[in-house]
Amino acid sequence: MGVEYLTPEYEVLRNENRCIACGVCVRQCANEVHAFLENTEKILSDDAKCVNCQRCVSLCPTHALKIVKNDCRLRENANWDNDTIREVYKQANSGGVLLSSMGNPKPLPVYWDRILINASQVTNPPIDPLREPMETRVFLGKRPQKAERGADGKLCCKLPPMLELSMPVMFSAMSYGSISYNAHASLARAAEALGICYNTGEGGLHEDFYVYGRNTIVQVASGRFGVHENYLEAAKAIEIKMGQGAKPGIGGHLPGSKIVGDVSRTRMIPEGTDAISPAPHHDIYSIEDLRQLVYSLKEATDYRKPVIVKVAAVHNIAAIASGIARSGADIIAIDGFRGGTGAAPTRIRDNVGIPIELALAAVDQRLRDEGIRGDVSLIVGGSVRSAADVVKAVALGADACYIATAALLALGCHLCRTCQTGRCNWGIATQNPELVKRLNPEVGSERLINLMNAWRHEIKELMGGMGINSVEALRGNRLMLRGVGLTEKELQILGIAHAGE
Ligand code: SF4
Ligand code: SF4
Repeated sequence: MGVEYLTPEYEVLRNENRCIACGVCVRQCANEVHAFLENTEKILSDDAKCVNCQRCVSLCPTHALKIVKNDCRLRENANWDNDTIREVYKQANSGGVLLSSMGNPKPLPVYWDRILINASQVTNPPIDPLREPMETRVFLGKRPQKAERGADGKLCCKLPPMLELSMPVMFSAMSYGSISYNAHASLARAAEALGICYNTGEGGLHEDFYVYGRNTIVQVASGRFGVHENYLEAAKAIEIKMGQGAKPGIGGHLPGSKIVGDVSRTRMIPEGTDAISPAPHHDIYSIEDLRQLVYSLKEATDYRKPVIVKVAAVHNIAAIASGIARSGADIIAIDGFRGGTGAAPTRIRDNVGIPIELALAAVDQRLRDEGIRGDVSLIVGGSVRSAADVVKAVALGADACYIATAALLALGCHLCRTCQTGRCNWGIATQNPELVKRLNPEVGSERLINLMNAWRHEIKELMGGMGINSVEALRGNRLMLRGVGLTEKELQILGIAHAGE
């Protein structure tokens, strides 16, 4: 290791008039930023270690602390900006691939913010969600070609297994290992209370969470960690992970230092070994191979559970989705390029994939054109930030959305973007028992429930404003959307008109 020619990214400002040297910041910071000056009651801070997670700022009883971005910039220009130069210095020092967490932070277009929602005015009056029933329930899975009824009027065709959700939002895949036991407990409890699902990610299912099976989606990824008969049997649905929005085309890597205790038992790998999921599934090189795995999982669970295939949004996503629909999968989950991660190579996270809005519109249109839209449901994720994003996604053709970053924010995440270090001061992306304790699953699940109930109410209000009283009726209704500041090509792919038209 050479010298890192880097100034600290953040400055810790302590108001000495307010600081009572209580030591809260010293005890709370897992990055050891604050320390008592020897033989004094004075606290000093080492700016270079701070990641701006705001834990100390939030808990300081006298509000004496402030963290600011260091305005001492390197000699940057439009081509070589501060961050680019820093990254070169870091790699020259370490010789390694840069790792990052959470989603792509680059200033690329966020199409959700360039799409506006319609509202009824004179004709087709709005619906008041406080006074009239609004249906937010959705059913995910294959739709039967036609409904057949017997002489008694009862449905006699066999319905494929479906995922019933009380609202079109679920918690996306986050593995036990990448997030803590208490974070998983919060997600599982909240999913059960809300009548939605959470997702194990590729880390297996901890034995304590089998009781939440009716609200659990279990993942089968290329590493097959923690996959066994009871795991599949416990779930409401099974997800085959082919790709992830934050790192399309590559596998996963959880360092051996995080494979401890329950994490190693749940993943069924020895303590201290790196959990490396290969980039490809070694048994899948074609849609026919994927079909084999889809049907193996269906066979193993007696055709009682819908199978989801999750892919990253990439250039030819519409053709890929068409193939997946023909593979026998019940649901396709598409993860956009802003999707979060516990750790991904920075270059991959910031440069690979496409926006979820364009991917969703292209896939929905392709499946409609091919007459197979009813064969699968679509879940989208990768930076769904609010109820408005959910409504726009549904109008663009989604059956439901996955959220992860928003869920972590509800648990206390302050988006310091250093999950890969395992020193999450908020008890979320860590396996350190002292840090894990900081997240109380009761409080965590309550906050998730609050967030989802708030979104449910906003979804109803937005739908009511359009004069629409069910999520199913909104799905794919692109007439309810208008674009602003978009090119003809973007509008064409999104399948929406420009505002004013
Ligand atoms: S890393 Fe977090 S807790 Fe530590 S000094 Fe920075 S903001 Fe405070
Ligand atoms: S989960 Fe923790 S480490 Fe990751 S971004 Fe949020 S606060 Fe930071």
